[in-house]
Amino acid sequence: MPKRPKIITVTGGKGGTGKTLCAVNIATMFKNESKKVLLIDGDVENPNTYLLLGGTLNNKSLVNYFKPQIVEDKCTKCGICAENCASHALLYLDGAVPIPMLTVCSGCKLCYKICPSGAIQPDSKIIGWKYRSEVNSISLLIGELKPSEARSAAIVEDLLKDVMTIIEQKPNEFDIIILDTAPGAHCDVELLINMADLVIPVTEPTKFGEMDLLRIIELITLLNKEYKVIVNRSSLLGFRDEFLENLSNKNIKILGDIPLDDDVVHSYCQGTPLMDVEANYSKDGGAYASFLKIYDKLKEWIHEKDNR
Ligand code: SF4
Ligand code: SF4
Repeated sequence: MPKRPKIITVTGGKGGTGKTLCAVNIATMFKNESKKVLLIDGDVENPNTYLLLGGTLNNKSLVNYFKPQIVEDKCTKCGICAENCASHALLYLDGAVPIPMLTVCSGCKLCYKICPSGAIQPDSKIIGWKYRSEVNSISLLIGELKPSEARSAAIVEDLLKDVMTIIEQKPNEFDIIILDTAPGAHCDVELLINMADLVIPVTEPTKFGEMDLLRIIELITLLNKEYKVIVNRSSLLGFRDEFLENLSNKNIKILGDIPLDDDVVHSYCQGTPLMDVEANYSKDGGAYASFLKIYDKLKEWIHEKDNR
């Protein structure tokens, strides 16, 4: 039986902790060892993995969403569609043709399926885009929500459908799939965590960081997923040891920590990952060495997982 790729979801309860930095550099370290890597940007309101990889958005495709269109001539005004719409997205007044309210419609298609008169036609609405490209031998799949649209989870679901198709049809195409999530603990993030073999929440050594980390760990635990934490900017104001000890005392599993390092800032500015072997960063730098330790631990985790 072919081995399917391992899926690692990089997440974090709070914005700006360095999720994308970690996702991109972990992807780069696997790529450096000639692994076939697919990196998915599921932060669909702010997709920016490609910027940190120095790439561009290519091969755009539309993400459409079902929208009900009511054919007035066929509608008997029975109200069955409105009665059964769990989102209350069909405004129905006795004896009138229902009016779809698209801002609350979930696109579930139930009304279309149950209308006894065939008066509901499937129509579609563009809610965003997907991009597929290859940057420095890393395959990128990016979702982007259209401004003013609210259905970010639908874009994430669409990305995950592509992942499932790849896994089912070409299980050997990739060795590793890395999913980068939006911040927070909402349904988009839940979908991406639910796909993971390992979840990496990224935090920083502050009270806010800890509070949001605990929230995301609660979600990960509810979903029964394995996780290991990265503490980014760990040398911030000298709280590293205290913060790591505090996490240990709470039995929180730690994958590693990354200290503040100018090279990380340079990598953001230049759009070149810190761990890119071709890039001109210090190979003795604190962040570089820390990422290598994290990578070693990930390889150990893969080895253990393959031998369980
Ligand atoms: S179920 Fe069909 S026929 Fe009945 S009100 Fe809705 S659209 Fe009209
Ligand atoms: S698609 Fe689903 S949510 Fe939208 S109007 Fe129809 S039943 Fe309601």
